[in-house]
Amino acid sequence: MEESLRNQYAHVPERISGLVDLAYNLWWSWNPEVRALFKQVSPQAWKESVHNPVRMLREIPIQFLKLAAENPAYLRRYDIVMRRFKKYLNAAGTWFSEQYPGDSSLTVAYFSAEYGLHHSLPIYAGGLGFLAGDHLKESSDLGLPMVAIGFVYSQGYLHQQINPDGWQEDITEPLDHDMAPITRVLSPTGEDLIVQVPHIDPPIYVAVWKVDVGRIPLYLLDTDIPCNDPQNRGISSRLYTGDLEQRLRQEIVLGIGGRKVLHALGIEYAAVHLNEGHPAFASLERIRERVARGMEFEEALEQVRSTSVFTSHTPVPAGHDVFPTDLIERYFKAYYPALGIDWNEFLQLGIHPQLANSGFNMTAFALRTSQHHNGVSRTHGSVTRQMWRCLWPGTPEATIPIDHITNGVHVPTWLNHRMRDLYDRYIGPTCPNWLTEHDDLTIWELIDEIPDAELWYLHTWLKAKLFNRIHEQERSRWADQHRQGTPHPAVGGAYLNPSTLTIGFARRFSTYKRAHLIFEDLERLKRILNNRWYPVQIIFAGKAHPADNEGKRVLQQIYRYAQQPEFGGRITFVEDYSEKVAQYLVHGVDVWLNNPLPPMEASGTSGMKASLNGVVNLSILDGWWTEGYNGKNGWAFGSEAGAGSGRDAADATAIYNLLEKEVIPLYYNRSIDDIPHGWVKMMKESIKSNGPRFSARRMVKEYVIRYYPALLQATEATYNGAIPTGEKTTRWPLNWEPQVKDRETGDPFSL
Ligand SMILES: *Cc1c(COP(=O)(O)O)cnc(C)c1O
Repeated sequence: MEESLRNQYAHVPERISGLVDLAYNLWWSWNPEVRALFKQVSPQAWKESVHNPVRMLREIPIQFLKLAAENPAYLRRYDIVMRRFKKYLNAAGTWFSEQYPGDSSLTVAYFSAEYGLHHSLPIYAGGLGFLAGDHLKESSDLGLPMVAIGFVYSQGYLHQQINPDGWQEDITEPLDHDMAPITRVLSPTGEDLIVQVPHIDPPIYVAVWKVDVGRIPLYLLDTDIPCNDPQNRGISSRLYTGDLEQRLRQEIVLGIGGRKVLHALGIEYAAVHLNEGHPAFASLERIRERVARGMEFEEALEQVRSTSVFTSHTPVPAGHDVFPTDLIERYFKAYYPALGIDWNEFLQLGIHPQLANSGFNMTAFALRTSQHHNGVSRTHGSVTRQMWRCLWPGTPEATIPIDHITNGVHVPTWLNHRMRDLYDRYIGPTCPNWLTEHDDLTIWELIDEIPDAELWYLHTWLKAKLFNRIHEQERSRWADQHRQGTPHPAVGGAYLNPSTLTIGFARRFSTYKRAHLIFEDLERLKRILNNRWYPVQIIFAGKAHPADNEGKRVLQQIYRYAQQPEFGGRITFVEDYSEKVAQYLVHGVDVWLNNPLPPMEASGTSGMKASLNGVVNLSILDGWWTEGYNGKNGWAFGSEAGAGSGRDAADATAIYNLLEKEVIPLYYNRSIDDIPHGWVKMMKESIKSNGPRFSARRMVKEYVIRYYPALLQATEATYNGAIPTGEKTTRWPLNWEPQVKDRETGDPFSL
C-alpha cells in the first residue's frame, strides 16, 4: 500500500489492511468473491456505501472492522482472496504471455476521453465509455501490457431529475475525490506531480490521478489545480463540453498532455490505441518528439502511423469533432513550427477533402496519422469506409483500409453473479475453468444442459430484484417530492407486475435511437399493453445530453404517455440511468428492445449485456445484431424498410406484428408446470450464441491478433530492436528522479 493511503486508512486493522488495496483496484468489481469480502464486513455498510468499497472503508464504524479482523472464518476468506489478488497482479501464464513469449512485447497506450468502469467513478457518458472500460478490464484479464490515459471530471455526474412536466433537469454532483477509487500521483519528493502541456501558450498544467484496473494503470488528467487560471481549471470540469474552444483545449490536454504525462511517469510504450478521435493529438506530439530528435517530418509521421490504431465509433456527425481554423491557429501557431512543416501542410492533416472549409476534422486527422483503423461492427466498418472513401481517392470501397472489429462486453462485469453460478453448475462438470475460456463457442453449447425450470426461476428472481430496486427508487422519490411540495403522478414503476411480459428500453436519448418509435400508433400500442389476457409492460430509462432539447422533448413525451391512464400504468420511466440501473435492467427484463435508425447504431452493446443473462433481443437489423441474429435467438426486423418518411411507421408496424404474432404468444404459452419452455429455449439460444461471440475477450484478442504483430514489427524497426516495454509494475519506477529527461526527445520535464 502506498504511504499516503496507509495514513488515510490508519483505522483499518493491520490484519485486514489489504482491503484498502482491494478497494483501490477495480478488480474487485468484476470478482464476486471480492465483493462478498466487503459485504461480509457489514452488509448494511456495504449498502450504505452504494457498493463503493472506498466510501465504505472511510465511513464504516471501526468496531465492524475490528470484529472482522478477529473473526477466524472471515480471515480465512480474506487470506484466500488476498492470495488470489497478488497472484493475479503478478501472473505469468496469461493468454498474452503465451502468445508473445519472451521480451518481445511492447506496451500499448490506450487513450480515451471516457471510461465506464463502475458507478463510483463517474467519468463516462455512455456506450463509448463502457466499451473503453470493458476493453481495459479484458486486457487486464488477458495479460496485455497496457497503460491508459483519460480525464477525471470534477463536475462528475450529471444526474437526471424529471420535473412534474416531464422535462429533464440536469443536476451536477461534484466528484468527491475522496470517495472515488483514485489516488493522486505524487512525485518522488512527495508533492503532487504537475506536468505542463508543451508548446501551448498560455501554459496549461495538469495533475494526475491513478486508478488500477486489475493489472492496468489508468492515469486520469486533472486541470482543476491552483496553478491554472480559471479557464484552464475548467478544462477537465465536464465530459464533452459544448463550448467549442474548451472542447479543443480538452483534446489538446488529453492527447498532448496525456503523452507528456506518461513520459513524466517514466512509462515507456511504443504503440497507441486511440479510442475515437478525441485524443488524436497524441499522434501530433509523438511526431513532434521525433522531429525534435532530428527526424524529417515525413519519416516521423510514418513511424507514428505504423504504430497507431484508431477506432471510430459512430457515423453520427456530432461524434466527429470539427474545429474552426481560427481556433486551431490560436492554439497551434506556437506548436506547428516544431513539426518542421508549414501552416498549410499542418492544416491539411485535418481537412475533410469534400468539406475543406469546414475546419479541422479530428477523424480525418486520426485516419491520416494512423495505419490501422477500424469500425466497431461489420456494418459499421462498411459505413465508415463509405464515409471516408474521399481520403483514398480512386480506391474501390472494398479495399479502403478501414477494417472492423465488432464490439464485445466484459463477461465477468455484465453476467449476473447468480447466473454465473448457475452456468458454473452445468458447464463446470465438463469444463471447470470455463470462464477463463469463455470465448470458446463450443463450451456455451453446454447451456442446453441447464434444466428449463432452473433458468426460468432464476430469471424470475432477477426480474423481482429489478422491480424491487425500481419500487425502492420510486418510494424515495415520492417521499422527496412530497417534502418539496411537488408531488406528481407515479410513473416510476409502482404498477409493475412481475408476471407480465416486460420490455426494457434503456439508452441515451439521442434522436437516432428513436425511443418514441413504439408510440407511432398509439391505439395499437394501447391494445397491446392493455390486453386482458396477455398484458405487456415497458420500462424506459435514459438521459438526454444536457444540450439536446430534441432528446429532452422525446423523453417528455414518453413521460407524459406514462402518466396517461389509457396506457394502464403499463409504461414506466426509471430516472437517472446509470451503470447500476443498467445492471439491474439487463439482468431482469424479458425482452430488450432496440430500434435505432439504421445505419446510425455503429454497434450497440446493451443488447449484448442482456443476452448474456438470458434476456432476449427484439432489435432492428443494425450494428451488432446484423451479426448476432441467427433466426432463433431473438427477433429482428427492419431489413425491408426503405429510408425516407415512411420508415418510422414501417418499423413500428414490424414491432407490433412481431409482438402480437410471436413474442407475446411465446411468452404466455405455459406448460402444466407454468414454465414457458419455448421461451426458455430462446433464452438459451440467446445466451449460447451471443455470449462468446460478443465478449470483450473475443474483441480484445481480435485487436491483438490483427494489429499486434504489425505494431511489434514497426516498433522493432523504429527502435532497432530495443523495444520499450512499458511499466512493469503499478508502482513508481525505482530509478525515477525529478529531473529526468524525456526518453524520446531529451527534453527536460516541466515539473
Ligand atoms: C452498455 C451501456 C450503454 C451503451 O448501450 P447501447 O446499447 O450501446 O446504447 C450506455 N449506458 C450504460 C449505463 C450502459 O451500461
